[in-house]
Amino acid sequence: MVRGATGSTPASGPSRIRYGGHTTCFTVDAIPDEPIVVDAGTGLAFSSDLVTGRPTHFHVLLTHFHLDHLLGLQTFRPFFGAEHRFTFYGFAPGREQLRAAIGGVFAEPWFPVQLDDVPSHVEFVALNEAPFWLGPVLVNIARLHHPQGVTAFRLTHGRRSVVIATDHEAGQPGVDARLVEFAIGADVLIHDAQFTPEEHETLYDGWGHSTWKDAVRIAAAADVDQLVLTSHDPFRTDDQIDEIVALARREFRNVEAAYEGLAVPM
Ligand SMILES: [Zn+2]
Repeated sequence: MVRGATGSTPASGPSRIRYGGHTTCFTVDAIPDEPIVVDAGTGLAFSSDLVTGRPTHFHVLLTHFHLDHLLGLQTFRPFFGAEHRFTFYGFAPGREQLRAAIGGVFAEPWFPVQLDDVPSHVEFVALNEAPFWLGPVLVNIARLHHPQGVTAFRLTHGRRSVVIATDHEAGQPGVDARLVEFAIGADVLIHDAQFTPEEHETLYDGWGHSTWKDAVRIAAAADVDQLVLTSHDPFRTDDQIDEIVALARREFRNVEAAYEGLAVPM
């Protein structure tokens, strides 16, 4: 399920009701009381249905460590409950580097509780590019193009597979080809589409995000069934996102824009 689909910083206000303004967070419900969370943006903090009253083991896969992908942790209540467990997975040379990257958002003087003092049980798994299993879900990994790097995840459960490629800036042929190969035949590709092609060309080349046209090109090349555009520009209104979807639908058969509450079957 999509919990947050806004890039860079949260958005709020009457022009952003339908798609929502929380930053990136997706969840997969495949193991009882063990949700898989991809990115801990502010969408995580508002996922009250994940607070069940039962001890819960959260598996948190992080695409990268930019603030908008971690901020939801600061106010996610289970993180401060001793009965809960959090395993963080992120691409890093080792556990200490992963711990330091996540701990940054809890460091003094920016937050009152340091990561070492968080009451829940917290552990870290540094990823390389080797696939691994979370219960019945196979997780494959590809490194893509973004300032300081980003990881795409392909989650396969039975016959269904969903690729999450947020914060990828298309345009480097070798990296785009890697993503196409990675996403080949997926049921769903959730792909960054923060900018319009015009914005990217004139203002935001090198800012780490793609356009809807890039997303369509990669979805078509990978022959995925459905494309979901994500990482919406926080300044984009609901109506402007609708316009982007309409343009993308002229070039790809099955496109929609991620909104909070969108269920992607796994
Ligand atoms: Zn980023």
